[in-house]
Amino acid sequence: MLEKYTALIMEKVSKKRLLQNVNDVARFHRIQASTGFRAAAEFCKEKLKLWGIEAQIQSYPADEEVIFDTYPSFFEWDCKQAWCDLVYPEKRRIADFVGNNISIIQKSIPADYRDKPIDIVMLGKGTRREDYPELPDIKGKIVFVRGMGPQYTWCFEEGALGIIHDYIAETPGVRTRYDLFDTMTYSSFWWGRGSKKGFGFTLSPREGDLLEAACKKAAAEGKCAQVTCFVDSSLYKGSIENVDAFLPGQTEEEVLITAHLCHPRYSANDNASGVSAGMEALKVIKELIDSGELPPLKRGIRLLLVPEFTGTYAYLDKIKEGRKKFMGGFNADMVGARQVEGYGPLTVTDLPMATPSFVCDLAAAVLEEARRDIADMGTGEKLIPMFNSRVAPFSGGSDHQVLSDPSVGIPTLMLGQWPDKYYHTSDDTPDRIDPHVLSKSATILAAYSYAMANMDEEDMLEVMSKGVERFTEKVNGYIKQYKAGKFTREVFYARLKAYCDYAAQSNEDYLRFFTEEQKPHIKELIEAQNAKLTAIAEVMAGPFKEEEKHWKPSVDMQKYNYIPRRTHFTQLQLRNWEGFLTKEQNEILKDYNEKYGMKAMMGPMSQFDYYVNGVRTLGEIMEIIALQTGYEEWEVMEQHVKVMTALGFMEIVG
Ligand SMILES: [Zn+2]
Repeated sequence: MLEKYTALIMEKVSKKRLLQNVNDVARFHRIQASTGFRAAAEFCKEKLKLWGIEAQIQSYPADEEVIFDTYPSFFEWDCKQAWCDLVYPEKRRIADFVGNNISIIQKSIPADYRDKPIDIVMLGKGTRREDYPELPDIKGKIVFVRGMGPQYTWCFEEGALGIIHDYIAETPGVRTRYDLFDTMTYSSFWWGRGSKKGFGFTLSPREGDLLEAACKKAAAEGKCAQVTCFVDSSLYKGSIENVDAFLPGQTEEEVLITAHLCHPRYSANDNASGVSAGMEALKVIKELIDSGELPPLKRGIRLLLVPEFTGTYAYLDKIKEGRKKFMGGFNADMVGARQVEGYGPLTVTDLPMATPSFVCDLAAAVLEEARRDIADMGTGEKLIPMFNSRVAPFSGGSDHQVLSDPSVGIPTLMLGQWPDKYYHTSDDTPDRIDPHVLSKSATILAAYSYAMANMDEEDMLEVMSKGVERFTEKVNGYIKQYKAGKFTREVFYARLKAYCDYAAQSNEDYLRFFTEEQKPHIKELIEAQNAKLTAIAEVMAGPFKEEEKHWKPSVDMQKYNYIPRRTHFTQLQLRNWEGFLTKEQNEILKDYNEKYGMKAMMGPMSQFDYYVNGVRTLGEIMEIIALQTGYEEWEVMEQHVKVMTALGFMEIVG
């Protein structure tokens, strides 16, 4: 059936409609919690209704005093105009919001220095206060920095009025500052409760270099370069919106498609593309059901267009236990760019291993069908894809990271493209979009959700054969790593064993999709599948001697024999919590960040909390992480639990 659905859907998907919607959405300046975002949400809702799809807008408070479970809200922002003129030693407009919305650091507060020139003080690439032991006097001045502008908000505490930056995030092999010499980076302040606020402007690297020369020229004369500027903006208690569209099914259960609608004008690939693909998926499914070409939906399909992270947290906080109706999800984030230089494949990102489920096998099976573009010269069968694609292991960075958390429990994949040469810049414009790639994305979203909504035994067996293929590939990967000397034979065996257990648990997840009557039979099929996978692993990896089967972590786990539990159900990102913590808690947090920095948040640590469930001991969690990823920073993990407990986000329950 998968082959049939996907072919039907692919035929119905309209490239023209997809491209039109990207163009339409891209023209809104869609900053999270803003007048521009609301207008975009209104547009999408009306378009969906025009297509006969049930759609509404949900509003949540944009208010510094509000917290969505673990995620502090923030004020709404509106900006009418903003500019910055260099007035000494040369005269030139260096930033203009009306000409390009990315010229300002988003959420800048109002400022009027039209008649009062401000001195510019140059700082460097270092973004932390500690990087400037001899900080020049910045009081009442504007700082010109070369790192990511919003990371210098400590300058406001020191009395600076504003920030000018020309930062470009570099991706090795894809983009450097010189590749994007006339491009501006999207940047935004994320004001927390009671934070000291300011304003800022964004320059291209070329404009930045020219400004540097101007500053040096003025300094040679014993003076400071100066600017005048004006920011006509406001920051106030307002609202945050989600567009919520729905194709009803025959049961209470639902499948979720989500895409973030936010980001500045144009942000075409990130993420007008995901919005357009999600809307098209619903339209096509509806058309095929209405015409009788596809049977009606057993489960409903819901599309959420959200401000990234914020809208997802707000929604989960509102529905709470209601989230259990979702059987699985797909997050469309950057799904339509032309695959030329600097643009990566269309990628299905797998779940974190803490959430075992077969859904990635389903998406991989659908992707394979969507790749049928052109007939193969030998067989005449459509086997040649005219786009690049891949299935990748879990990584975070967007809403699927929140939804796939086992304590939220909605196994959600991501469909995306990486790298993206112009991601988060003024050059992510609609001309980067390829309707063909976009049509594949819409097809994959639609076929995946339809299959999940109407899953039957036949579909399950098809997905299971994909599962065998992906399992074999994974085992082969472990073998290659072992042969390359990446780990010992004990670790190899332990990993293989852990992966077999994980695959078996993933297959158990099929049971959720069947009735009590069907379950005994489905269980038999799952057992047969698991036996097949174990046999494959044994054949591929060869026999193990008993003494090779004893991997132990390099630390005595008895020391960590206590059970942490999270106090909230959503993943804590610690953004903007300072204003809600006590002075003492803030000290602890500062200490922790200084000591471990990114180490405590990135890579394996970003998945640590997924395993904290009030049942596993810290030692057990450490062992799982070490086994799955090779990460053995016991101290970082121990401190993480200590600090989270001190901040009230975890408690020790045994
Ligand atoms: Zn995005």
